[in-house]
Amino acid sequence: MILVDSHAHLHFPAFSADGAEVLQRARDNGVSLITVGTKFATSVSGIEFAEQHDGVWCTIGLHPGHVHDHSFVDENEETHTAPSPEREFDEARYDALVSHPKVVAIGEFGLDYSRVPEGMDIDDFKCDQQNVARQQLRFATKHNKPVVIHCRGGATADVTGAHDDMRSLIAEEIERGGIERRGVIHCFTGTVDDAAKYSELGFLISVTGIVTFGKSVASAVRSIPLEQMMIETDCPYLSPVPLRGKRNEPANVALVAQAIADLKGISVQEVARVTTANAVKLFEIST
Ligand SMILES: [Zn+2]
Ligand SMILES: [Zn+2]
Repeated sequence: MILVDSHAHLHFPAFSADGAEVLQRARDNGVSLITVGTKFATSVSGIEFAEQHDGVWCTIGLHPGHVHDHSFVDENEETHTAPSPEREFDEARYDALVSHPKVVAIGEFGLDYSRVPEGMDIDDFKCDQQNVARQQLRFATKHNKPVVIHCRGGATADVTGAHDDMRSLIAEEIERGGIERRGVIHCFTGTVDDAAKYSELGFLISVTGIVTFGKSVASAVRSIPLEQMMIETDCPYLSPVPLRGKRNEPANVALVAQAIADLKGISVQEVARVTTANAVKLFEIST
């Protein structure tokens, strides 16, 4: 069985002690992977990791969580103690990275309305994120790369609509004749209706380990066609059952595939076959 973990962060500090062993376990389980950048520094380190290893490709981009100042630091992602927002997508710096043969997509970027910095005006916050997302859609068009989109809604009633806003941005870029290679909504946590609307735009969705414990994601996955799906770990985050709370790793994408198979009443081999074909086609990789 050949699987593609379409979204991992294997080059993050969370794996600095044993990345090679983790990668070997992935290989032993037939798993190839895309290791995803989240800012300039992790875009560079992702390329460095991917160029050292077969069966590993990478992406470059600026995650919406790095657009503003935040009081928290994710120690899985950053080794230094002070968070460093980028605010603008500095195109010239990313231009210098994009032609590397291991760079298969632009991302992860998008909209994340789940953590509004204290005291910040919500409309300004959304507008900043949308501008940075728009810049990267255009950047992907310029370089003819697919996009890896992070999209998460708000936790409160006054911060909603991330998926609607994201689809507007995507539609706007398609209207301009852009993003011909389209892309994926990673870590999909929307509804069946959201997935159908993304499908109309030619976008895939990617399913994480949340499918093993999140009831709404599980019920959406039951109805979303396999032909629109990829699978991912988003490691080191989001370990599936029965590994919740532990550090996640690419080999565990097999548990995501199994959960989808169980929900749909099909074989795990079928899930592997279709999701791997989708990843190979979108990223133009060979497993
Ligand atoms: Zn993400
Ligand atoms: Zn991610």
